[in-house]
Amino acid sequence: MYKFSSLRKPSVYFILGGPGSGKGTQCELLSKNLKFVHLSAGQLLRDAITSNSQHKITIENCINNGVIVPSHVTINLLDKAIFDNLSSETFLIDGFPRNYENMQSWIELMDHKINFKSVIYIHCSRQNMILRIQERSKTSGRSDDNLQILEKRFITYQNDTQKIIDHYRNLNKLIEIDGDNSINIVQAQILELLNKTLIHS
Ligand code: UDP
Ligand code: MG
Repeated sequence: MYKFSSLRKPSVYFILGGPGSGKGTQCELLSKNLKFVHLSAGQLLRDAITSNSQHKITIENCINNGVIVPSHVTINLLDKAIFDNLSSETFLIDGFPRNYENMQSWIELMDHKINFKSVIYIHCSRQNMILRIQERSKTSGRSDDNLQILEKRFITYQNDTQKIIDHYRNLNKLIEIDGDNSINIVQAQILELLNKTLIHS
């Protein structure tokens, strides 16, 4: 039996941007303002470590080297999070897809089950991202919030994730936001641009 009978597929936005660009902060605000559900791929992976998932060691190794966890692990977590939560219609997937493997596997495994909307890309200067992560590291408790691993995360972002951003820009599916502004200004800009695309879609 199908677990749900709704004919409507859940809508999905991806949120991309460098480490410390404000993805999580902005998604939290969007989830309040628009009643979207925020799913952080990174947080789902950290939760899987805490709950002793069978992939715990793999995930830990990737996170502590600033590289990307194999797609099947991340997509499995996202799949569960979306389809265990069918009361909601729209999901913000924060920090995914980060490379071609992520994107291809998502298309293969998930695309037919969801209604893909677009990618929100928060562009931010490296200097700002470093400052924010340094500040966050005081309270985040995250093993990867230190300068050494941050440098590796930047390299992964530049080599892998930037290509995904370019790909969605070429498809005309990218909503670009200047993330160097204050939290409230960035939020207002996202809301404005989302409104425009909603009117035209
Ligand atoms: N990560 C991953 N795949 C994902 C999301 C996260 O492999 O889809 C891993 C990756 O090692 C990354 C870490 O989790 O460096 C932290 O990701 P998160 O998005 O939480 O960090 P942010 O970019 O927001 O600082
Ligand atoms: Mg984050």
